[in-house]
Amino acid sequence: MKLSCDNCNNTFNVDQIKDIKQDKIKDDIERHYIACPNCQHKYTTHYENDAIKNITAEISTLQKKAPLKIKQKNRLDKLRTKVRFMSQTLKADVEKHG
Ligand SMILES: [Zn+2]
Repeated sequence: MKLSCDNCNNTFNVDQIKDIKQDKIKDDIERHYIACPNCQHKYTTHYENDAIKNITAEISTLQKKAPLKIKQKNRLDKLRTKVRFMSQTLKADVEKHG
């Protein structure tokens, strides 16, 4: 995916940036972002808090157990939906409060 930097108009390929950086923005909330290779302007990829990290950890543990039983598969689907919802909520919350 190509991104044109709002700050310097440099165009760069987001997929080529392997280095996702993290900022602690408050308490247990971390902002994950990539920086424009030209001017280091920050672009948020997503936010994480402890609850999201716990679920993400459970997801990767489950994924390592593949092939999964039906019950585990259902659990994995549920966790994925939950984590997606939680990160949307967190993002909205963080951005609302600046
Ligand atoms: Zn830039």
